[in-house]
Order: sequence, then C-alpha cells, then structure tokens
Amino acid sequence: DSAINRIAAGEVVERPASAVKELVENAIDAGARQITVEYADGGKTLIRVTDDGCGIAAVDLALALSRHATSKIDGTDLLNIHTFGFRGEALPSLGAVGRLTICSRVAGQDGAEISVNGGVTGPVRPAALNGGTVVTLRDLFFATPARLKFLRTDRAEAQAISDIIKRLAMAEPFVRFTLRDVSGDGPGREVFRADAEQGDMFAALHGRLAQVLGREFAENALAIDAERDGLHLTGYAALPTYSRGSAVTQYLFVNGRPVRDKLLVGALRGAYFDLLSRDRHPAAALFVDCDPKLVDVNVHPAKSEVRFRDPGLAGGLIVSGLRHALADAGH
Ligand code: ADP
Ligand code: MG
Repeated sequence: DSAINRIAAGEVVERPASAVKELVENAIDAGARQITVEYADGGKTLIRVTDDGCGIAAVDLALALSRHATSKIDGTDLLNIHTFGFRGEALPSLGAVGRLTICSRVAGQDGAEISVNGGVTGPVRPAALNGGTVVTLRDLFFATPARLKFLRTDRAEAQAISDIIKRLAMAEPFVRFTLRDVSGDGPGREVFRADAEQGDMFAALHGRLAQVLGREFAENALAIDAERDGLHLTGYAALPTYSRGSAVTQYLFVNGRPVRDKLLVGALRGAYFDLLSRDRHPAAALFVDCDPKLVDVNVHPAKSEVRFRDPGLAGGLIVSGLRHALADAGH
C-alpha cells in the first residue's frame, strides 16, 4: 500500500505549498479560529500547522492516516461537497513521502499522537496538548528523492507557501492566520499575520483585504454583489487606478475554495478590457457561490481548476457584475 500512497502523493502534493494547503484546509474544516503555520528551509525540512479546531479522537488517529478514510463525505453525496477536503488522501500521501506526526486532542479527552515515516506507521501514543491539532511534516520527499530535484529554491518555495496562506486567509476572514519562518536557530520570523475580522461577511472581507493587499487597495476597491440564474458573485474589485504590474493580486474563489481558473481570470481581465493597458492587471477578491451541482471542483487533485456546467454564465456574471460596479464609480 505504501507504493500506492507514494504514487497518489505525487498527485496531491507537488511541493511544500501544496502540503501546507492540504493541512490548512483540514484545520479550516475542523472549525479552527486560529491557525499557525511554521516552516523551515522553504518547507523542505519542516512544515508545522497548529490549529484550535475540533481535534481527532485517539481512536480515530490511525484511521485518519488510511487512504480514502474521510470524516467528510458519506459516498451518497459526492456532488454535495461543502468542505475543502473529501478525498481522504492528504494525510496518507504526506505520510508516504515525508515524516508526519499528528498530535491531537478532542475537548474532554486525553491527547494522543501518531507518526508515519515514509509510509511506515507507528503506534498511537499519549501526548500532552491543550486542544486542537498539531501536524508536523519533516523532510518532505525524503522517501522520493526524484521529487526532491523538482523543488525550487527555499526562497521560491517559501513564496509559494506565503501565496497559498494569503489565498486561504482571504477566503476565511473570521479566522486568525499566522505564518512564521523558523529556519535556523532563534525564535523565527513572522512572515504574515491576519487577525480575525469582525462584522458581516462584506465588512470582514474588506478588513481582510486591507490586511492582505494593503489599506490603500481596500479603500479603492468596489464592492461587488451580483446574481444570475443561481450563481452569486460577491467580493471586491479595484478601481483601474489601483491595478498592478502582475496578476498575483487576483484572488478567485468558487464555493469558498481558492481557484486559478483560466475562464474566471479571463472574465476578470475582460471586465477591465478597455480600462487597463495590457501590462496592468486588475486586483480583486471575488467569490462565486452556487449550488455544488452547478460546478465540478474535482477536475484535478490539487483542486485549483473548476468546471462550470454553464461556463458562459459564470464568465458573463463576472464581466457584467464588475462592469456595473465600475460604471457606477464613473468608469
Ligand atoms: P480529507 O480532508 O479529504 O477528509 P485528509 O487525509 O486530509 O482527508 O484527512 C483525513 C481525516 O483526518 C479528515 O477527514 C479528518 O477527519 C481528520 N483530520 C485531518 N486533519 C485534521 C485537523 N486539523 N483537525 C481535525 N481533524 C482532522
Ligand atoms: Mg484534507
């Protein structure tokens, strides 16, 4: 089974940032209000995700590491995917290609931990912690040296981790996120922090936007709120004057998941077509929400692409929703 896990791992985890994504999504699914991510050497030697979510009971720890075991779906409900994870592959995949330790405690129970190194699972042992879950992943890809060669510099991998944390932070404004680089000796360095936002979804998102993209951007962003045939578009899009020289400030979400979908990016670009020169990119945080049956989020294990049942509808909604807001603002 460990060979199968290593193959599956190649699909789910391509680099440290994809491991971080899986672990943080698990923390979000567990209802965490505070999530701390630490990494060393671009995540190659250490990734640690600490959350204050519901925890995993000691009796379920071994199960959480077995393939296709998930607490999030019951098989009859494959199209109704509201939580991030549903494939039950992340933890076994990470345990197959690295040294993984899960330390967890459910309120009112004793804490416990389990380790799996290169696919070899150890016993469940008692552990002391206040609550929630700490997942530590060391030496990613030590068990698959060929994969190691494809990793980029520590700096580039760290950048990718920071990017995914900012995307997830944008999607979850009520959760506090902390990202620390703990390479070498010493206390480490805080790379990013977003304190928990208050208020309704628009107020919270606006506050989070200011924390992630800067106050100046947030103050020059237009609120977007549009609906068409069961598709809802909400979020913020920048005035053309606050466009950027790169596309990294484009945050797109479908049913709460960060996506990098060509169709949606193209629609965003199209909305600003005659307002921006070719080398400028509109900054935006846009959320498309719809009945899960109208969109397939399971196109690729890394889950960043989606397939709408009616692609024209999704693209059209973004173009018209943004054009209306821009026109109202005098553009
Ligand atoms: P999936 O998220 O697709 O269910 P994973 O392999 O990522 O699969 O996780 C397996 C199971 O372990 C989850 O279904 C969940 O029950 C449990 N789990 C993983 N991480 C956490 C966490 N941080 N807090 C609570 N439970 C967790
Ligand atoms: Mg998961």
